[in-house]
Amino acid sequence: MNDNLPKASSPHRITLELPANDPGYFYDPTVTAGTHGEIRLSPRVEAHCRCGGAPPYQVFESPHSEPTWCVCRSYRTHIRNVNRLISQSGIPERFRYHFLDQFQESHKGTEIPGAARLKEHLRPLIYRCTEAKRNHKAIDTNSSARGFLLWGEPGNGKTMFCCVALNELIFHSGQAGRFIGLSRKFFQTLRHTFDQDSPIHGQAIPIMETLSTVPFLVIDDLGVQRDTEWEVEMLYNLVDARYAEQRLTFVTTNKNIDEIKRLAGGRIYSRFLEMCHLIHVQAPDYREYSKIEYEI
Ligand SMILES: [Zn+2]
Repeated sequence: MNDNLPKASSPHRITLELPANDPGYFYDPTVTAGTHGEIRLSPRVEAHCRCGGAPPYQVFESPHSEPTWCVCRSYRTHIRNVNRLISQSGIPERFRYHFLDQFQESHKGTEIPGAARLKEHLRPLIYRCTEAKRNHKAIDTNSSARGFLLWGEPGNGKTMFCCVALNELIFHSGQAGRFIGLSRKFFQTLRHTFDQDSPIHGQAIPIMETLSTVPFLVIDDLGVQRDTEWEVEMLYNLVDARYAEQRLTFVTTNKNIDEIKRLAGGRIYSRFLEMCHLIHVQAPDYREYSKIEYEI
């Protein structure tokens, strides 16, 4: 342990006054390596950094003085945290670091139906996250804060948009989010946790607990489950727990609303009605628009 590290309550700690539209970091979509851009310090913070960007981000006023934290430290810590959370989120690789600016509202001058409206639903949530982070408070998820349930034809951007939401909320809040695809594999994995011989025996409870309480959750492809009583009950328990915890939940489904209403005798649908904006996504196959940009 390095005794020279400044204390968290160091009286010499310096903070920066930044304008409301500058949280101290931004996403630079320029790809220099790999498949996506990177989150970087904003130029204002960069200009004041005197540690050279090397951990533990401390500066010495003079050769014999006590070290103080560099102004960049909290911003660099946030960036590192966001990168970690995105890598642990389960967001499919191709949608990681997809943000609102990259979600197209039009293609070659033609408006994509509903795309602008989707973005309008997301902005208030981003604002809440930004405010919570700025004021060091929990995210306000009272009854007026809703996720969304997107339903419509396959391939029209529902999953991509939910991933944009997840990336944005993690980016602005520094809090965790998860993406789960309700594939057969998901339920098979859960079932294996009840198998005495399975290496993941007994893990259903921690898995479900994490999914029930994580601040942001995307449930992708609702409706592909086999509708066995067990699977539907697991799903209801998850949705009900998130409802009770007032956690933001985003759902995609290729089913129509009548089919969702029939799940678990309407109990899942009634929870969604209170937790989510129900949005019928009527855009045509998004992949036609985006196969160049997004390489789906
Ligand atoms: Zn620095």
